[in-house]
Amino acid sequence: MITPRFPVLFLLTASYLLIFSACDKAFFAADSAEEAVVTEDCPSLTSHLFEMSAAQKDRNTLLLQYFTPAEIADLKTNTCLTKEPVESGEGATERASGLKGRFWTPGAVIRVRFLNGSAALQQKVFACAEEWENYADVHFSKVTSGNSDVRILFGEEGHWSYIGTDNSSIDACEETMNLELTDQTSGTEVRRVALHEFGHVLGMRHEHQQPLASIPWNTSAVYTYYAQQDWTRTEVDQQVLNKNTAESSQYTNFDAASIMEYPVSASLTTNGYSIGWNTQLSATDKSFIGLMYSTRRVRVRHAAAGYGSNISFYVAGIYHTLKPGESLSVPVLSTANTLAIWEQPTGTWVWDDAYSPVYGKNYKIVRVGSTNDLTLAVE
Ligand SMILES: [Zn+2]
Repeated sequence: MITPRFPVLFLLTASYLLIFSACDKAFFAADSAEEAVVTEDCPSLTSHLFEMSAAQKDRNTLLLQYFTPAEIADLKTNTCLTKEPVESGEGATERASGLKGRFWTPGAVIRVRFLNGSAALQQKVFACAEEWENYADVHFSKVTSGNSDVRILFGEEGHWSYIGTDNSSIDACEETMNLELTDQTSGTEVRRVALHEFGHVLGMRHEHQQPLASIPWNTSAVYTYYAQQDWTRTEVDQQVLNKNTAESSQYTNFDAASIMEYPVSASLTTNGYSIGWNTQLSATDKSFIGLMYSTRRVRVRHAAAGYGSNISFYVAGIYHTLKPGESLSVPVLSTANTLAIWEQPTGTWVWDDAYSPVYGKNYKIVRVGSTNDLTLAVE
């Protein structure tokens, strides 16, 4: 017998309130009380709680061809939506595609206001924001009235957050982060989710979508898996499969241990590759955010006349990409920096050369002669 487990899975998604009518919301209240039981023992969910439509039964059958009940149950906690401000006009697409330019100014005070939730739950979540302060030069300030940058709602729509300084452009009457956490949620789970969402607040995006990620997705399995929470193929592409462009991102080598990485089930990949549950800030999370909030920077400018392509370079463990004419202030180490440049003379990225920039100077990347040979020079 196939045990219906869709009710809980649907309930815990952003789409739920759009899908179900008011009478279904009454069901939500009844089911919430059983959440812990269902999480730990999925088959215990009984069919009388929910009348599945024929389409939903078909989808459930399809899911069980790919995934174990435990894997299906995991979905409720392993997804997080990143939100983009609603914008229109030129620049909206560019702004929506990556994290470059969305970090707060080093030393920024970010005001956090909780819209609901018990004092104990608020404190557990806020402690996770404060944990990031150990590595990033920012200060989270808890406010209970007045203006705020981050507004947290403990709601029923999954976990999501806006990214970095995008939070500041959200209407002051709207939440900027939703956490589907309660006083009954385990401390480990609260911490995992809150560390992840505050990573978004600081400007981080999902690690599985960074330009160097190479997860061997089984795309049909991925579409099927996320269809259970009513994500369309387009939404799955946006939230899971598509990679951020290099020019919109600043990123390290792929870090499977990052708090910003979803767990990846072997059932979702073509060769058994998997990633477990990350519940702590990784070493790279700490070093990356430390550098991105450092004031020890050099400015690098794309000044290669006649070279119309982007230029990627790597310094202090972080990759950056410049569009023609663009300049970027990037973090460097106090000593012994190596800056490597990549170029695309024939359409393929190739390593060009390495240089030793020093803090206190600014640089430009220029083209030497009539070839595509790129060189770092002092401004
Ligand atoms: Zn996320």
